[in-house]
Amino acid sequence: MRNKAGLNLETSFKASDQADMGQSELCWTANVFVFLLLLPGILGWGREGHYAVCKIAEGYLTEDALSMVRELLPASAEGDLAAVCSWADELRENHDYHWSSVLHFVDTPDFFCNYNCSRDCHDSHRHKGRCVTAAIYNYTMQLESAYKEITSEVRYNLTEALMFLSHFIGDVHQPLHVGFVGDLGGNLIKVGWYQRSTNLHHVWDTMIIESALKRFYHSNLMLMIQAIQSNISDEWHNEVSAWRNCTGNHTACPNPYASESISLACKYAYKNATPGSTLEDSYFLTRLPVVEKRLAQSGIRLASTLNRIFASEVKVAEV
Ligand SMILES: [Zn+2]
Repeated sequence: MRNKAGLNLETSFKASDQADMGQSELCWTANVFVFLLLLPGILGWGREGHYAVCKIAEGYLTEDALSMVRELLPASAEGDLAAVCSWADELRENHDYHWSSVLHFVDTPDFFCNYNCSRDCHDSHRHKGRCVTAAIYNYTMQLESAYKEITSEVRYNLTEALMFLSHFIGDVHQPLHVGFVGDLGGNLIKVGWYQRSTNLHHVWDTMIIESALKRFYHSNLMLMIQAIQSNISDEWHNEVSAWRNCTGNHTACPNPYASESISLACKYAYKNATPGSTLEDSYFLTRLPVVEKRLAQSGIRLASTLNRIFASEVKVAEV
């Protein structure tokens, strides 16, 4: 079903809804007419990270959610959500989707180690609602309204909504996707990663995972995913129900995830990573557990969000 592709935030909210919501607790005010600034190098977890998030999520989907996900996936995914989890990053090459590039992240003012959606969720032109947390609300709403048949007026491309949502829930958990505006979430902080030159953002998107794969998992991503899955059912077992929590009866809860991310960015990502420094074992070995836990939390929370969206009891109750 091809509807209005990605139906941008512009068209996703009625003006009256915005007036009602104001700076609501959801903070997805989206009075948006935006020509997006394509910021370089801001992708989110690399391909491996996003694959891991969706692969973990697949294991926690309810039957209803799994069958809806499979129905919505493009044929090329062959029923595997993880296969399309980097789709939103691949769009960077596509001019038709430049509007989506700012939806992968959100910035806080420099040295603010907390997230405030009404202060922070905007693009560089200060158009509100142009950030990752608003995008998560938006695509959740698109899927939910279609599934629960809340409205038949507005049709969305639900396949794209699913792929965007699955990707952005991963992104919001990458600590430097909620980083400081002045350094573009670590993109402007040049560092060495062992022998290589890179930037701090890329270290967190990709290099920590790559180094872990080589050193601990025989370069086998599935082994790393299995290790994270074991931790979920073992070491983190008691924390998992709190990760799933979404208070206030909401379907999606990205704001607390963003708060956690900027807090971790201050405590781990930026710490001891000054411009020009070379990051090696002392940094890698203390940050890898943070990355692995964030991948686990992303996977669990993606599954929970999809389970809430595609909860059959709600649909039955409405009949
Ligand atoms: Zn991304």
